[in-house]
Amino acid sequence: MRGFPAREATQEKRWEEQARAIPEPDRLRKDMEFMAAQPHQAGSARGKVVAEWILSQFKEWGLDAHIEEFEPLLPYPTIREVSVVSPKPYQAKLKEPVVAQDPNSGDADQLPSYNAYSASGDVTADAVYVNYGVPDDYEYLAKHNIDVKGKIVIARYGKSWRGIKPKVAAEHGAVACLIYSDPKEDGFYEGDVFPKGPMRPEQGVQRGSVMDMPFYSGDPLTPGWAAEKGAKRLSRAEAKVLMTIPVLPISYADAKPILEQLNGPVAPTSWRGALPLTYHIGPGAAKVHVKTDFDWTTKPIYDVIATIPGSTFPDEWVLAGNHHDAWVNGADDPISGAVALLETARSLAKLQAAGWHPERTIKIALWDAEEFGLIGSTEWAEKHQDELKQKAAAYLNSDSNGAGWLHVGASHTLEEFASEVAHAVPQPGGTQSLAEASLHHTNPDDDPERHDHEHHDHFQVDALGAGSDYVAFLDFLGVASMNEGFGGAGRSGIYHSVYDSIYWYEHFSDTTFVHGQALARFTTTAVMRLADAPVLPLEFTRFASTVKGYVDEIVQQAQKANHKLDVTAIQKQLDLLESTGKAYEATLKAAVAKDSLDPKKLVALNHSLMESERALTRPEGLPNRWWYKHQIYAPGFYTGYGVKTIPGLREAVDSKNWDLAAKEITIVAGCLDAMNQTVRDALTETGGL
Ligand SMILES: [Zn+2]
Repeated sequence: MRGFPAREATQEKRWEEQARAIPEPDRLRKDMEFMAAQPHQAGSARGKVVAEWILSQFKEWGLDAHIEEFEPLLPYPTIREVSVVSPKPYQAKLKEPVVAQDPNSGDADQLPSYNAYSASGDVTADAVYVNYGVPDDYEYLAKHNIDVKGKIVIARYGKSWRGIKPKVAAEHGAVACLIYSDPKEDGFYEGDVFPKGPMRPEQGVQRGSVMDMPFYSGDPLTPGWAAEKGAKRLSRAEAKVLMTIPVLPISYADAKPILEQLNGPVAPTSWRGALPLTYHIGPGAAKVHVKTDFDWTTKPIYDVIATIPGSTFPDEWVLAGNHHDAWVNGADDPISGAVALLETARSLAKLQAAGWHPERTIKIALWDAEEFGLIGSTEWAEKHQDELKQKAAAYLNSDSNGAGWLHVGASHTLEEFASEVAHAVPQPGGTQSLAEASLHHTNPDDDPERHDHEHHDHFQVDALGAGSDYVAFLDFLGVASMNEGFGGAGRSGIYHSVYDSIYWYEHFSDTTFVHGQALARFTTTAVMRLADAPVLPLEFTRFASTVKGYVDEIVQQAQKANHKLDVTAIQKQLDLLESTGKAYEATLKAAVAKDSLDPKKLVALNHSLMESERALTRPEGLPNRWWYKHQIYAPGFYTGYGVKTIPGLREAVDSKNWDLAAKEITIVAGCLDAMNQTVRDALTETGGL
């Protein structure tokens, strides 16, 4: 067990086994049935009720817990109109109908379908179909002399994070952007639609934020500091992450009358969706009217934080979080993950009552306003930034959870650790561990012609982009982070709609809640091990070899543009990291062969280990996005959720800016040099244990 002397490992295993016996599927179900019983979006009265209920649960279990309140900009819609003016008029419904089997689909106080941080506006113009609305699609349009300037673009969901679509549309001069869910992505083309099956019905709509999160996340009006009552705020005009054109999400039923009235060239094969019509690009003949307005107010949000104090290293923190706000009822997103984290909290509380005391301080957080732009976690991280930079050892995150196999994204210094924990926890319904099941399964739903499932011989983690609440911890503060969840055994077409309900979840996802139980077990084990390991379980050789792979990709990309990129400075640091990392492994092995280790010496060692991720950040951040400090991981400027590794360099190469690329090589090598220093320090300190 990484970081533990043998005797302590035996004791740790006993506590872990005890903890893993605690999470119960029935509790997960009951907690979901309360938390997802009504719409509870951030800023709503019900959102506050849910936060207070979480607090009361924590207290009932004997945990020290409190609520931290912030007040970010949370616009709710006041006007939403889409219509085809001519040739054949059509008024879009913009309403998801009640489904008889699922009473929650008709709940009062549903937040209507909209895109948060869209601009207010009123425009009428010809429509143009832009496929996914990513930069490549506009290149195709330019080649075919189709200009979207002054036009309303209609893009389909998929491929990129949704906020990229209106951003790129506005950059090309479009005056509004409609985003619709094509049935090819998550509707009837993929499976039966709700309530017969899990896929998106014809009037189903995907809500979601279109804040320009790759620039900075959190409250648009307080970048880098906390949105507390009375805090200084930017004006809306100064906030660079607000969308500049009106944006609305629509269903395929509302998109069809627009698409079938477009003329102009027929869209290429790869642009066609699954609607029964010929996909034309336009512009014309469809003339469309879009009108939006919002209440543009700040609203209170509530993060719920529980703390278990560390007995030996109280100033080293292990954090785990999941958001509790949803767009509507959110049984899947986020309650399926939130209830698993509650079971983790309950397990730790029970263990504490039985005499277990973690060596490090543990903080469990249920975040608010994730859906609007990772706001609750970001504001909290910004508020406590100085203390977190000193004390945070690791941040673990979860979000929606479903039936299937464990998937982990993480800082690669945590890859070995994640693999070890995944080998310690059993896969539901079998004899394999989570790691084995994840490596060897064949997906029953898999279409043999699909190749999205790669096979590896050892458990691997992916690099983290910007899909959930780890962003402020990893990218802004440089805290080693991990995101874990189950999925892959079924399809889903209810994302961010009124049909993300208890009925849907209990019929089409983790129906017996055993995958929620497994998530609670995995997170509990990881938190305990991180909190108890005398030596923090970071490992550096996998990081070095993975980053080498990223460098190779970037070099090849430059080659394609006939540019020879000189990355010697980076490679030198990665070679050094690999050899120092190996030496550290050997020295650590020798050190933990002793029965016990001196806590005073461990403080210095663990400090060096914590600093290893911090070393990868720069106060200046990435080129043109100062908030993103991490030089190895960031969401892509034009992909959104999707990660761009070594982002400063990679995006310089993307844009063929070779001067900037050369500068970025020096910067990245400098960060790796600083990381190397922390690993050398750790090596020396381990030798002296
Ligand atoms: Zn979520």
